[in-house]
Amino acid sequence: MPTKRTALCACGQASITVEGGPQMQGVCHCTDCKRRTGSAFGISSYFLKTRVASTSGETSVYAFHHAARAQDQARHFCPRCGSTLYWTISSLPDLIGVAGGCFADESLPEPTHSITHRKKESWLTLPQTWKVIEE
Ligand SMILES: [Zn+2]
Ligand SMILES: [Zn+2]
Repeated sequence: MPTKRTALCACGQASITVEGGPQMQGVCHCTDCKRRTGSAFGISSYFLKTRVASTSGETSVYAFHHAARAQDQARHFCPRCGSTLYWTISSLPDLIGVAGGCFADESLPEPTHSITHRKKESWLTLPQTWKVIEE
């Protein structure tokens, strides 16, 4: 049986449960992730859509076209507390992105990528083993 992990919004009414580890996982330092999370970076954990075991609660969807990346995104967030919980991106049709921090107590494997690294906060030091993607 693969490990199951559940990501919850801050108030706990919405959740998503996935089986197994992420297909890819990185921290992203882009302006968008900073504003989405209110933090120094976002943790983006991508799972195969076929590994989503269940979702519960209600989410609202913030859908938009990301012109710079030429992709459509749909972000599911909790209408009560506002946490972004998971999202889909048109350029990654087989994957679902989950806000890694929402797993909170259920620890994830170490991320492998630093994305939009050029916008990383200067005080932040990351493991040198991670793959750096400048954009
Ligand atoms: Zn909530
Ligand atoms: Zn980002």
